[in-house]
Amino acid sequence: MRITDVRATLLKLPWDQQLDPRAHPKPIVEVVVVEIETDEGVTGSGYTYTDGYGGEAIRALLVPTIRELVLGTDPTAVEPIVTGLYWKLRKIGYGGAVSLAIAGFDIAAWDIISKVRGKPLVDLFGSFKEDMPVYSSAIGSRMFDVNKQIEMAQELVREDYVGVKIQLGRPDGDEDVERIRRVREALGDKTIIIVDSNTLWNADQAISVGRRILEFKPYYMEEPIPPHDIEGHEKISRTLPIPIATGEAIFDYRGCAEYIRRRAVSYIQPNVCRIGGITQWKKVATLAESANMKVAPHFVAELHVQLACTIPNALIIEHVPWLIQHLKEPPTLKGGKIFPRRQPGLGMEFLPEAIQKYRADR
Ligand SMILES: [Mg+2]
Repeated sequence: MRITDVRATLLKLPWDQQLDPRAHPKPIVEVVVVEIETDEGVTGSGYTYTDGYGGEAIRALLVPTIRELVLGTDPTAVEPIVTGLYWKLRKIGYGGAVSLAIAGFDIAAWDIISKVRGKPLVDLFGSFKEDMPVYSSAIGSRMFDVNKQIEMAQELVREDYVGVKIQLGRPDGDEDVERIRRVREALGDKTIIIVDSNTLWNADQAISVGRRILEFKPYYMEEPIPPHDIEGHEKISRTLPIPIATGEAIFDYRGCAEYIRRRAVSYIQPNVCRIGGITQWKKVATLAESANMKVAPHFVAELHVQLACTIPNALIIEHVPWLIQHLKEPPTLKGGKIFPRRQPGLGMEFLPEAIQKYRADR
């Protein structure tokens, strides 16, 4: 089988909720839809995405650059192709836009592998679990009024989720403490509440707020500080008896390796698009397994549930409705669980009407 074409289409989808402009300056998700054509008529589909900036650069890396480098290769031999792409593109960096672009290609190649072998990913890799616990990030914005947030959170945990994630990191720490206190009181002792400050703190601020929210039992504290501050994560982890998690803004599996080796966090959170695709994501999971560490993947629930079921050390899946609502075959959720796809292919195709409506490159 040989690759005959690679296409990349840029979509710009509005975020339909109020987000904190300090953490999310542009309320748009840019999606680059990637399609690989082969000489055997099998098409692979995947996507990669950004939080508002850089979509044009990623599309340009995919077509013409990556397209030119992969034409004529066999997409079912994906790992050497991806490793070769990192090598050939190394002078423009091992992470960032390069990783996001390579991920789009890698995911579409795995879609082909799954289709050609006639097996879903869970059967291709072999599964440890039939399903995963799932929490919702849909109502987490620190810009929400807490009363409204509680009302929505109660509805979510009544329906399909084991818990919710809420954002902390308000300029006034008292507001953070009050927010989690109210949410814990409303949801009861058993419901999972994850807190996320989107890197808005430094280590001392994280420790200070962390000590005050300890009694409200956060399941873990996500991205308290920026990802380049590994020492800061070590300091927080050694000081607070709350599991610390990070990884969504790490663009190279070697960056996760450093966190894992130093036990700077309790949970690692690779995002399959930012880390460079399925091939690189699996490496992070294996590195974490070697340190007896759990993986709590970030976003992209429809694919992460398929991957999480195939590793022994997956913790929980995050569900955000923003992109999933535009997929042809969104994953199934029930009773706090999310179920992996059982048909060949990855199921990451967008609805034609979504592509038509949000296309930014016509
Ligand atoms: Mg986060």
